Amino acid sequence: MPATGYIIEHDKSGRASCKGACKQKIEKGALRFGSCSTAAWDGEQTHFRKLTCMTKKVAQNALDFYGGDITQLRNWATLSADEQAEVKEVFDSFIASAEPPKKKAAKKKKEDDDEEDSAPPKKVKKAAPKKKAAPAVAMPGDDD
Ligand SMILES: [Zn+2]
Repeated sequence: MPATGYIIEHDKSGRASCKGACKQKIEKGALRFGSCSTAAWDGEQTHFRKLTCMTKKVAQNALDFYGGDITQLRNWATLSADEQAEVKEVFDSFIASAEPPKKKAAKKKKEDDDEEDSAPPKKVKKAAPKKKAAPAVAMPGDDD
């Protein structure tokens, strides 16, 4: 879905979930970064993330979109000077950072319904050790 813009704003509801790494709810009032893109229903959808969950790629995409001018982010002008400085710093630090190693987040979880007690119950048949001249090496298949 093509990007249509990027927005920086304060979270309004406290109900949006971060689309970044943490997947946590974004606190109401916290600064959040939104990636806007064409939606399947022919509108625009915005995926929000916490500033702390930016990635180099996302920051770079946003800057590229606006020709490197962060102040072109939607809603930028409504931020306080402090907030603008904070966002700039976040972007700078991500842009300057090395790309983290690719994570395969979509790793399928192996079906894991093995129950612990699925192993055949071991018969407790440990009689008192017999004094027997048994070979020191266990025979294969010997299930004592
Ligand atoms: Zn997050």
